[in-house]
Amino acid sequence: MKPTLQDRFGRRVEYLRVSVTDRCDLRCTYCIPEGFHGFEEPSHWLSHDELVRVVGVFAGMGVSKVRLTGGEPLLRHDITGLARRLDALPGISDLSLSTNATQLARYASGLHQAGIARLNVSLDTLRPERYAQISRRDCLGQVLDGLMAAKAEGFAPIKINMVVMDGVNDDEIDDMVAFCLMHGFILRMIETMPMGETGRNASYLDLQPVKERLRRRFGLVDGVLPGGGPARYLQSPDGAFSIGFITPLSQHFCDTCNRVRLSVDGTLFLCLGQDEKLELRPLLRAGISDAALEQKIREAIELKPQRHEFREKPGNVVRIMSLTGG
Ligand code: SAM
Repeated sequence: MKPTLQDRFGRRVEYLRVSVTDRCDLRCTYCIPEGFHGFEEPSHWLSHDELVRVVGVFAGMGVSKVRLTGGEPLLRHDITGLARRLDALPGISDLSLSTNATQLARYASGLHQAGIARLNVSLDTLRPERYAQISRRDCLGQVLDGLMAAKAEGFAPIKINMVVMDGVNDDEIDDMVAFCLMHGFILRMIETMPMGETGRNASYLDLQPVKERLRRRFGLVDGVLPGGGPARYLQSPDGAFSIGFITPLSQHFCDTCNRVRLSVDGTLFLCLGQDEKLELRPLLRAGISDAALEQKIREAIELKPQRHEFREKPGNVVRIMSLTGG
């Protein structure tokens, strides 16, 4: 029988998001403040060996899906080598990566060969000036080159994550739909989450009215996408075209949460929006055995909160997304 990891609410934890760095080469206004100095000491980062070991222990408990994230994961030294090692672990059947794509043109081929099949790319706008305003870096051209390299490489699917902000980029939704349709990408719109002051100050937009407008405009129906995660999808009646909505505030999806997050310093976060956690680094560096590590992780999973409280307590989460591992 397959081993399982289950929390006290009966939710199976099958998905580990692994942050391989908290650094990013962008400074998105809703994520990392310009001039931010709160990054982790490199000596506190889990090494490749430590990351592979922790993921291996999770795999032994039934976790089969792993996503590499950050910060910007392509900034981590030898990310391709790390991906290859994780992909080779018994039990890991789905290795994916989230990236801002600034460096993707260089890495697309190596990552694909290393075993990453699915890619999520963050893209909030197709307008160069607006991209520079939102990310505080003038590099949309580089990002689009990266995206096209990934398409040519044959990653499937490529999902485009667009954080939609009221009065900032919500006038571009139809352009993004057309862009994704043209290239065969799956667009997923995301509501801003009140993570840190940057997240709380972002111009939140309720995506439910957007969803209803797009449903009517393109004649879409409710749909399901295999491995679709927390997104709710609208699809064309023949299923050929999908648009996802990640709506943690207007319609949360905590009942089906199947994931936990490992930050680069070895903290296991049990919920994006709550503080329950287990510090794995001190255990690893004190020479804990795999069996004892597994026991500690099982005890921590018992603490997984029922749900976030982004709406009720927006001031709760002081960590920005980039530090947690988005
Ligand atoms: N750098 C990688 C990337 O761009 O996909 C991975 C990390 S990034 C923190 C992960 C995702 O979190 C990005 O799509 C980003 O737009 C999103 N994000 C960051 N802060 C957010 C917030 N406060 N609310 C909603 N999404 C946020």
